Amino acid sequence: MVIIMETGAAPEDISAVTDAITLEGLTPFENPGVERKVIAVLGVIDAQKIRLMDKFQNMPGVERVTLISDPYKLPSRQCHPKDSTFEVCGVPIGGPLLTIIAGPCSIESKEQALETAHAVKAAGATLLRGGAFKPRSSPYAFQGLGEEGLRILAECREATGLPIVTEVVDPHDVGIVCQYADVLQIGARNMQNYRLLQRVGQSRTPVLLKRGMGVRIREMLMAAEYIMVEGNHQVILCERGIITFEDSTRFTTDINAIPVLKHLSHLPVVLDPSHATGSARYVGPVAKAGIAAGADGLIMEVHPQPGEALSDGPQSLKPEAFAQLMGELRRVAAAVDRVCPPDQPAR
Ligand code: PEP
Ligand code: MN
Repeated sequence: MVIIMETGAAPEDISAVTDAITLEGLTPFENPGVERKVIAVLGVIDAQKIRLMDKFQNMPGVERVTLISDPYKLPSRQCHPKDSTFEVCGVPIGGPLLTIIAGPCSIESKEQALETAHAVKAAGATLLRGGAFKPRSSPYAFQGLGEEGLRILAECREATGLPIVTEVVDPHDVGIVCQYADVLQIGARNMQNYRLLQRVGQSRTPVLLKRGMGVRIREMLMAAEYIMVEGNHQVILCERGIITFEDSTRFTTDINAIPVLKHLSHLPVVLDPSHATGSARYVGPVAKAGIAAGADGLIMEVHPQPGEALSDGPQSLKPEAFAQLMGELRRVAAAVDRVCPPDQPAR
């Protein structure tokens, strides 16, 4: 942390700042600038950062306070230089094998879910997605089947062996969702629901954290910190498109976020080209761009009859289109020294 004093700050203001630093058990290091003084704060200030910034910022003669290290710690590569990898029911997350999560936006019925689960598994998906608790923009839209949806997901896991990724929208539901889910999804709309982040952090179920649609990367990493500081370090970061002035797609894929997140954080990073584009037509090209940009995997929506889907039909791939895309992704993955999981035709 560096404290930059105003030009011509009074000597007593400067000594008040250095005294305050010493009182905190830290060491001030003064740089006798020609125009203004800069005071570096030396010592371990990790958990105190925000409080100390506010404190020094409010002192007379202080122009501004700047952090040298990242405001987040646990997700930061500065604290953990090597890529983090972990397993979900034996499926590797991070590392050379790409994580491919696919399935319907919402679980609508047992038939729809099972048909999709078998199809995405045959095409090579390694985890099944599906929403039982849906955070819809309209209160009149389909809200999901709730616990019945979770039971159907568990049947799909039983039938296919695919671990399940499903969203939790309310801190009170974390217990029940954990009884079924292998990965808890935090949706874009809830990325800054701090009570929910703390609650999933207290569970030991891995978390897929989606970026808020109007949220900066550093705020996303602070959200990851909320989860990790509670003891749950199995966090997957997910770029899912942000709001920009461009309205020819539902959101705008922030492809930059992939190399930026990989640079700033050791956590695995996946891309959601379905929500990022909102259109099945663009899912394939953007999925390939994500893998080429260094994503550790993808989460994609697949529905046997997208025209009949109760949510996100326009962006859902038909199973055949998903299978074809997986073939194309295998070639892109090989070009960047990654492996896209092979298909697993039903025997
Ligand atoms: C979803 O995955 O179906 C979903 C609601 O995603 P997001 O939170 O990214 O909008
Ligand atoms: Mn969706």
